[in-house]
Amino acid sequence: MLVKKQIRGLPAYAPGKPIAEVKREYGLDHVIKMASNENPYGASPKVAERIATIASETAIYPDGYGTELREALATKHQVSEKQIILGNGSDEVIQFLCRGFLSADTNTVMATPSFSQYKLNATIEAAEIVEIPVTNSGDHDLEAMLAAINEQTRIVWVCNPNNPNGVALSREAFVHFLDRVPKECLVVSDEAYYEYVTMADYPDSVSLLSAYPQLVVLRTFSKAYGLAGLRVGYGIASESVAQAIDPVRPPFNNNAIAHQAALAALEDEGFIQLCKEKNEQERQRLRTYFEEEGFFVYPSETNFLLVETSIPGNQLFQAFLEKGFILRSGEALGYPTGIRISIGSKEENDAFLKVAPAIF
Ligand code: PMP
Repeated sequence: MLVKKQIRGLPAYAPGKPIAEVKREYGLDHVIKMASNENPYGASPKVAERIATIASETAIYPDGYGTELREALATKHQVSEKQIILGNGSDEVIQFLCRGFLSADTNTVMATPSFSQYKLNATIEAAEIVEIPVTNSGDHDLEAMLAAINEQTRIVWVCNPNNPNGVALSREAFVHFLDRVPKECLVVSDEAYYEYVTMADYPDSVSLLSAYPQLVVLRTFSKAYGLAGLRVGYGIASESVAQAIDPVRPPFNNNAIAHQAALAALEDEGFIQLCKEKNEQERQRLRTYFEEEGFFVYPSETNFLLVETSIPGNQLFQAFLEKGFILRSGEALGYPTGIRISIGSKEENDAFLKVAPAIF
């Protein structure tokens, strides 16, 4: 069997350990997952209500175009519905962009460490990958990224805020960058954690779309909206970019339940606001704890914290696992002595803070 060479030897994606597996392996009754930056408060109650109304419609294919959801998103963002790229999670939109714009004779520029899926999908498309290390403060090195762009560059990735360190770029820095990227090169602003951002000068990138048609903004329902299990994400782009990549989208890439759940979630902005406030409070509480322990904590604008310790990340991961907490080791994320922790609910964080002193 001769699988294509770009994927030969690539490891399969290994998400964090599932709760059930950890319970079984360590004989624990209660396990708290703080590894994948999900919403600890779930989704708006309106979501479950809406899902119940269409539970009997499973025999019928969903609307492949996702008309209702597109229209709701177009209204929310004040763009045309033709500018929306619906994906089975924003993971899938990343895949569409790579399939549509990258090939062996192209390259793509990204920060490192950053979200793993840009590199993976670009690798699969055989594009050359140019990785630019983040600065010591965890920011994208935009000047070095610009210097790396050449005529073959088709996509430059800006993860804002960045995963895994949570650091966000200001509007001024982002616009100054956009001004200097060649018009033929897409700039993807991945804003998976948009709803959690509290910094005042964070870019409103959707409003920049009309001035910068090469911009693609990614958002997701997996984080603050609490729909990670249903897989809905989207891109907002110029009409020509969105239409150009539409042929690579599978016919029914979002299911009917996911469509309705996302629509219901959009109707409850109050829930998002509440989650944002609680997250901010709890993030500060955890940050204070880590800083008092003497660790460096990146200035996160998200619902997770990356903490630099002097202990190998895998060792910390293991120690917390045995106590019933699934965290994310920094080792696979580019931070060998780092640990990434998703901000839990008050009760989850209380439990974490109870066991943490014995481990650090
Ligand atoms: N972008 C970033 C920066 C992420 O952290 C994630 C989720 N871990 C995604 C995209 C993908 O999210 P989803 O596919 O669930 O929308």
